[in-house]
Amino acid sequence: MNTTALKFGGSSLADANQFRKAADIILSHEGRLFVVASAPGKRSKDDTKVTDMLYACYDLAASGQDFREALGKIELRFSSISDELGIKFDLKSEFSVIGKHLQDGPQRDYMASRGEYLNSKLLAAFLGFDFIDPASCIFFNEEGNLDAERTNTALGAILKGKKRAVVAGFYGTGADGNVRTFSRGGSDVTGAIVARAAKADVYENWTDVSGMLSADPRIVTNPEPISEISYKELRELSYMGASVMHEDAVFPVRQAGIPINIRNTNRPEDSGTWIVPHRKSTADDGRVVTGIAGKKGFSSIRVEKAMLNNEVGFAARLLDIIASAGVSFEHVPSGIDTMSVIVDSEDFRAQRSRILEDVQDSLSPDALIVDTSIALIAVVGLGMVYRKGVAAKLFSALARADVNIRMIDQGSSEINIIVGVDEADYEKALNALYDTFFKAP
Ligand code: ASP
Repeated sequence: MNTTALKFGGSSLADANQFRKAADIILSHEGRLFVVASAPGKRSKDDTKVTDMLYACYDLAASGQDFREALGKIELRFSSISDELGIKFDLKSEFSVIGKHLQDGPQRDYMASRGEYLNSKLLAAFLGFDFIDPASCIFFNEEGNLDAERTNTALGAILKGKKRAVVAGFYGTGADGNVRTFSRGGSDVTGAIVARAAKADVYENWTDVSGMLSADPRIVTNPEPISEISYKELRELSYMGASVMHEDAVFPVRQAGIPINIRNTNRPEDSGTWIVPHRKSTADDGRVVTGIAGKKGFSSIRVEKAMLNNEVGFAARLLDIIASAGVSFEHVPSGIDTMSVIVDSEDFRAQRSRILEDVQDSLSPDALIVDTSIALIAVVGLGMVYRKGVAAKLFSALARADVNIRMIDQGSSEINIIVGVDEADYEKALNALYDTFFKAP
């Protein structure tokens, strides 16, 4: 029997109806042994996530204001689930513990963690599973990072003794012994940690979309879903802004070679997206490009100098000036007499005069040109460099759409081509690339 670790996001456990759907999914397969639960999310567009309600309640208590009404509203979110499902669970005493905590000396992370803690206890009671409090087995180190090995050993030992269990997402214990949370969306990380510790065959991440899309649906109409993607391709697309999961959720399972399956709680019949350690080639249909993602908000600093090519250490000095200002660079396209550095516009803005003065003083360029409206687009696909004509197709698509290419970088990972375009052309460029690689025969 395959062992599956599953994580349900906030929208998948937002109310009693969603609880029922999640329970049906879990119980429909006997290998679905270990479940990680988020706090209740939004029930509709204008609703508030329980985690946000908890932070707001903490703020009231920490500033000495009356928090009782806010806490009462949170209790109501949980009691409506438990009453509707007829779960026998003593919410009253849980909330009196929380109320006392807020009175005696509130801690922000502890408060935020109560959403996952209570929702997981409710789900465990509903399913008849054991409950595991990650405060006893997920550890952070002195620097505030996950202590991966200690956690894996402790959690592994606990899971061994359980048939089926629900683990609360989002938190663990800090080096000081207090509850500590991951950053927002961190239940994804807990899910990955549980999958690794359980030596699961698959990590199912249940959410409210049927997987990852091949382009941003806010820009491209009805982009195709991605059926399979490698960890490497995912990393390239996520870096360019495509988000499907918490970034840190990939590491624990990638390390253990466990595939992730992104699934939709509201459409369990959809197979979703498989994120796998290795893929032979691209998708079965022979598609070269797996996904396209991009971001606005970059600037280019272009330095021109005759015979720049012969000046030993020029590039190192230019990059050193930028690094000394605390700005990290994204790409460094260069020519015989020119060199450009692409940086994040926001980081650059604060250090602009310092960087430009230093470049003038120490490199004496013939020209120094700054452009603060660059958008980067990454076209990602495994093995596309071995396929002839990909770059040509990409450039002619942009030319046909009348988009001027400001920068080109064929990633050395060999699975992406990055182009820089004017921010004003971003949407047009993304659509032109999508049409060419996904719609054209
Ligand atoms: N409930 C937390 C949040 O809203 C963690 C999570 O849902 O993954 O960020």
